[in-house]
Amino acid sequence: MSTEQSATKLMPTYRRLPVNFSKGDGVWLYDSKGNKFLDGISGISVCNLGHCHPKVTAAIQKQAGELMHTSNLYNIDLQSQLAQELTSITGMDNCFFSNSGAEANEAAIKLARLYGNQKGIETPSIIVMEGAFHGRTMATLSASSGRKIQAGFEPLVKGFVRAPFNDLEAIRTIAKNNPNIVAIFLEPVQGEGGINVPDADYLPGLREICDEQEWLLMLDEVQSGNGRTGKFFAHQHTSIKPDVLTTAKGLGNGMPIAVCLAAGPAAHIFQPGHHGSTYGGNPLACAAGLAVVNTLFDDNIIDHAAMIGELILNELAENFHGADYIKDIRGKGLMIGIELKDPCGPLVNLALAKGLLINVTSDNVIRLLPPLIITKEEANQLVDLLTKLIKAYVGDDRKKPRKQ
Ligand code: PLP
Repeated sequence: MSTEQSATKLMPTYRRLPVNFSKGDGVWLYDSKGNKFLDGISGISVCNLGHCHPKVTAAIQKQAGELMHTSNLYNIDLQSQLAQELTSITGMDNCFFSNSGAEANEAAIKLARLYGNQKGIETPSIIVMEGAFHGRTMATLSASSGRKIQAGFEPLVKGFVRAPFNDLEAIRTIAKNNPNIVAIFLEPVQGEGGINVPDADYLPGLREICDEQEWLLMLDEVQSGNGRTGKFFAHQHTSIKPDVLTTAKGLGNGMPIAVCLAAGPAAHIFQPGHHGSTYGGNPLACAAGLAVVNTLFDDNIIDHAAMIGELILNELAENFHGADYIKDIRGKGLMIGIELKDPCGPLVNLALAKGLLINVTSDNVIRLLPPLIITKEEANQLVDLLTKLIKAYVGDDRKKPRKQ
């Protein structure tokens, strides 16, 4: 049976690009015909250490031969070790492991509701943001912004109050008018919403409001975590500490693993029976997670990502200096967005045809999330290719007539 025929046996939930990869190595992917592609998206911020990183592969192979799964009915040494690493990186107190970003966020949402109920608030509400994306389960899609992912799935989960992103005044107004708020939940850099980086005083401002109001500050770092922005977590560009923090994606470099971390009072909310996961934090996933964390530090990859991110942003700014079809070029580390004035979805296929993998989000934002191990040369290659593609797409590649 051909791939096309067997693909019809899959639910058509994805608009897939017409390519099948069969091998990956660093920033490169290869299709079954041997064509080579520069990966500018890392499986959506997952393969941060590149494809088939030898240290992660070795850790998974070793663990697969020793013990893969026991369930959380028993102690799991590797889970405790990974929790030790993650809490020491963040200053958080404890961890709950699961398998995907949406699940880590479900844990955070449940934790906030329990926190509210324990305070005597019967209908606790969580402030969430315009432009937010937190996942596709019922609670996380209800917390996400945009009718596109919510339409048809009503009734949505109640208990979310939406606020504009990067607007402290709006949060203060909600605080005055809504006694049921128990938490603020947001991405410190919005990913799907278009690589939106808030002002430097935004997270500290939210921290202050949460402290005044006794709300939990809950950060979704599913996409922005694990070195992506040039710090282990994006909020570490500031001095604040959240009460609840979630991550997934890059933590396993392709092995499904996610975590919800908590600090202070939030760390004492979940008790036996409140939450669970059969697979969450199993030995195989935690072996991968530990290999990722150790490699990010041992090989100084996060500083490298910060340096390459700056290089890419500077080159893009130079290449598109004065271009009226570009609205903004922004980002942190290797989480980069190029916002065009007009929708630019077709660029994804045009790039694929030239051997470059990119993504377009929010209709007009080209999103770059290359592996953090990308070299200067590969980054230059990516920028050159992309610059040519964008210029050709908007018709800016035609030679200007020479002045006589
Ligand atoms: N939160 C953020 C910020 C994300 O970017 C994503 C996925 O793109 C999710 C949550 C959902 O993660 P998953 O697809 O692993 O459930």
